Amino acid sequence: MSDCIFCKIIQGEIPSTKVFESKDLVAFLDIMPANKGHTLIVPKKHFDDLESADPKILAEMTKLAQKISKAVLEFCDGTNIVINNKPAAGQIINHMHMHVIPRHSENNFKFDWPHRKYEDDINLYSEKIKKSLQ
Ligand code: 5GP
Ligand code: ZN
Repeated sequence: MSDCIFCKIIQGEIPSTKVFESKDLVAFLDIMPANKGHTLIVPKKHFDDLESADPKILAEMTKLAQKISKAVLEFCDGTNIVINNKPAAGQIINHMHMHVIPRHSENNFKFDWPHRKYEDDINLYSEKIKKSLQ
């Protein structure tokens, strides 16, 4: 897509600090990292979001996340693997990508989601999900 920052990075129009490249994927360092070594895994083909992505590419991304996680664990203590899917979930760049975020024991922030309760409606939600999965 012509106005997509990640497409421009892939086409070499915007510089990036690349750590990996294959036929289908690139991985480069996030310019505003949660921690140093924060890496973005990006398919070369533009997909707006998780739902529109090719499942084979997603499988490749997951395998690469495992490798990058192992690599960053040489200098950190844990990792978060995250896809922010759609603006409501914090997706800013609408070129689907995966974050590999290095974590350190002494810098133990948490993703601060609320821990809500169900009001006797847990089965309602499980039924909604199961129905869609059929
Ligand atoms: P999102 O919220 O869409 O999942 O995350 C987008 C990420 O891309 C952010 O963490 C942001 O720091 C990173 N980012 C935005 N623009 C650029 C850029 O031009 N280069 C690189 N390397 N990262 C970027
Ligand atoms: Zn794009």
